[in-house]
Amino acid sequence: MTRFTCSNAADADNAQCSCCGYDDPMFAPEAFARRDLFRRAGGLAGAAALATPAMAQAQTPVQLAQAQAPVREIVQIAGNVYRFRNNFHFSVFAVTPAGVIATDPINADAANWLKNELRTRFNQTVRYLVYSHDHPDHINGGEMFADTATVVAHARARDKIRDERRRTAPVNVAFSEALTLELGGTVVELEYVGRNHSDNSLVVRFPAARALFAVDFIPVETVAFRDLHEGYVEEWFDSLKRVEAMDFDLLAPGHGPMGTKAHVRQFREYMETIRDGVLAGLRAGRSLDEIRPSIDLQKYANWAGYAQMRDLNIDGMHRYYTLFSRRSA
Ligand SMILES: [Zn+2]
Ligand SMILES: [Zn+2]
Repeated sequence: MTRFTCSNAADADNAQCSCCGYDDPMFAPEAFARRDLFRRAGGLAGAAALATPAMAQAQTPVQLAQAQAPVREIVQIAGNVYRFRNNFHFSVFAVTPAGVIATDPINADAANWLKNELRTRFNQTVRYLVYSHDHPDHINGGEMFADTATVVAHARARDKIRDERRRTAPVNVAFSEALTLELGGTVVELEYVGRNHSDNSLVVRFPAARALFAVDFIPVETVAFRDLHEGYVEEWFDSLKRVEAMDFDLLAPGHGPMGTKAHVRQFREYMETIRDGVLAGLRAGRSLDEIRPSIDLQKYANWAGYAQMRDLNIDGMHRYYTLFSRRSA
């Protein structure tokens, strides 16, 4: 059995660490390096890396896992929107003349690094800080920006962060469906698309850059994590369809490589293939042991995590449709 350890350093000794699990070298962008994902997916012409010299040399996943210092970098996605990396976690931010609209701080050390980079590279401070969802491995460390930022999240994330005393800044502005932020001429659309990986996940859309940030529920050419643990499977499909209906080109996930809008459909189809196979098997009276090999997922065999988690994804779907609604029938 593969063991998954939390490499988000500040959380490694934290009993509350609820690392989502994509925290493994197999999901690192370097694992995709030879696959030319950007170009094949219609990608990111002209994206400019702003990595520090120490990071300029590509590291293998093994080297990454062994590295003592966290891997941190800032990469321009499009226009004034950038992607911030801390090891296997990513968030995005927009730089405007009136300050920065940032998303997940990841942890206190990472947030402190980002704060300094924003000051030295852009001479700016964070004015809005948006939490993608309530999971600590993405949103710890928000206090680093609390001196200048208004903190924004879904109402259920606000309540969990408060009630469970998360190690981050409390939420100042919460909403249930949608909220538009505007700062220094940049508009950011925050939308709740229903339950999926959590019950409070937002998508953060940057219309001018045609980019969308979504965490843990739309992995790019990567299988779902293990047995879908607390996922709301049926509603997850609805979430993905809502994102597919949005107007954007570039998909910035919370882990792994960048993608495009096409990757949302690809992941939905992967999950639907498992769902349809599980439902057909259940209705035919087959056991889980019989269902697992009956589902043809070969076209996804090159996705990250496939060998390790293909069967676990099926197991999670089987558990869900054994216990819950079968309205997909
Ligand atoms: Zn995650
Ligand atoms: Zn999560």
